[in-house]
Amino acid sequence: MSQAESLQGASSGVEALIERLRGEGVEQGREEARRIVGDAERRATWMIEQADRAYWAETLPVMEMLSEFLTLTPVLRQQIVTASTDGRHLYFCPHYSATLSDESRRFLHAHLIWHCVAGHLTAPLVANRHRWHLACDHEVNVLLMALGLILPSNTLLFPVCVGRSAIDVYRWLAGHPDTSLEITADIHPAALWDYLPNTNPDQRMTALWRRRAHLIARDSDVLPERVAKFCEAR
Ligand SMILES: [Zn+2]
Repeated sequence: MSQAESLQGASSGVEALIERLRGEGVEQGREEARRIVGDAERRATWMIEQADRAYWAETLPVMEMLSEFLTLTPVLRQQIVTASTDGRHLYFCPHYSATLSDESRRFLHAHLIWHCVAGHLTAPLVANRHRWHLACDHEVNVLLMALGLILPSNTLLFPVCVGRSAIDVYRWLAGHPDTSLEITADIHPAALWDYLPNTNPDQRMTALWRRRAHLIARDSDVLPERVAKFCEAR
């Protein structure tokens, strides 16, 4: 090998090294950016959790108690664009959550907690999943209204169906001219396994929430009569 060739070889070796180091630097930069974003999300989540618990403690203590059972868990927008729950975690997209007012965010969290209380972590085999979700959302939102929560203006509720069970509302919705116009604000908990690969429908979790519903029903001072009866019948 001539001196010129070996110098060229060395310089291309150096270029390859610089390229590799640059690539590693970019990757480290990305990693660092991901870590910073992750830390910021965890901090923001913790602050939201504390603020909401303090709010429930003052206004509706039963909600403070129930909210302790779900861990707020931010997830990537690619996985979930709104929010959902598996009965242990309250999964939410931080970008979506940031677009909501405090009132709407608290309502969404309360809505997911009451999906758990109402036994919606699993679902019957229905012909129309969207219609079942609408029926369950209606059931939950009527309970939240009875609990005295302020309903955001876009809350899904069918006034003629107040007091009816989700199954009844599902049947009633068969007469709806176009259910695709009715929007749900979350992912139905029973459909979560389809979005997050590590979550599976868990019957034990459903049973645990049934026991929790019975417990809060027994403490009749805590709940309005209609809500207490619903929890008792779970
Ligand atoms: Zn819902």
